[in-house]
Amino acid sequence: MLKLLAWAMMIALTSPAFAGDAGPRVVVSIAPLHSLAAQVMAGAGEPALLIDAAASPHSVALKPSQARALARADLVIWIGGALEPSLHNAIAARPSRQQVLTLIDSRTLHRLAGRRQAAERSRPAGAGDVIDPHLWLDPDNARIIVRLITTRLQTLDPARAALYARNAAQADARLRALSHAIAARLEPLRDAPFMVFHDAYQYLEYRYHLKNAGIIRSHPEQGASAYHLRRIAEERRAANVACVFAEPQFAAAPVFNDPSAPAIRYLDPLGRGLPADPDLYQKMIIRLVDTLAGCLERAAGDKGVTQ
Ligand SMILES: [Zn+2]
Repeated sequence: MLKLLAWAMMIALTSPAFAGDAGPRVVVSIAPLHSLAAQVMAGAGEPALLIDAAASPHSVALKPSQARALARADLVIWIGGALEPSLHNAIAARPSRQQVLTLIDSRTLHRLAGRRQAAERSRPAGAGDVIDPHLWLDPDNARIIVRLITTRLQTLDPARAALYARNAAQADARLRALSHAIAARLEPLRDAPFMVFHDAYQYLEYRYHLKNAGIIRSHPEQGASAYHLRRIAEERRAANVACVFAEPQFAAAPVFNDPSAPAIRYLDPLGRGLPADPDLYQKMIIRLVDTLAGCLERAAGDKGVTQ
């Protein structure tokens, strides 16, 4: 009996206090990251999603119930204050036992500096370059994110280390196949210009050599000046851009005052309307690439490109 008690005490001291046999409580900020975490955690529990994919992480405010879920978590996974500013204070004031994986700080990820956008080009340089936080939109970064999540979970829950490793290997194979399929689809569209509402797609553009001809809003939550919109419209005509994309998370924002502009289509970098499950990341990226490539392919067809 004493022996058993000593053993139980040792377990209590060496492993985190998970309730019963449940895995660690993991809270994830946005749906695509949640999906990657759910793939790694399959069979060990389900991570909680904090920000619904219908909302923009740039501007959403945390409800009290979400703040409580955040406070209870053993591990919080987020991009960083540049994407989810509403989480910043809660994470800064977190309980000491809580682990946080701040992806934007990870040097193993492929990170790009935020682009200086049309509206800001005339401003003096300085204030340091910030990292573009939309780094999950590169599927090869998603593979690294899976590895980072796996390492954290293995440290937090060593009893399931092998399970996490198996899940991670499966997720990695899926993401590799996904990236190859996207590369094949986008390869013929390298020179087709398009414009986007806010600068969320740099990682996708960089990975697959796409040609972004302009960004309509520097700060998606703020209005753009009439001068800026006029300049964007001129740039659109000059570059003969047939595809302009906005985002469902910013549906209320007027995009353009350009009567000759083509119909706006919607790209969704978060997975709005998709079930928040392990498949969301793949579905979100496939839907996004379908929309993007579909428009660019039609535009190329309309111009009678035959080479
Ligand atoms: Zn964004």
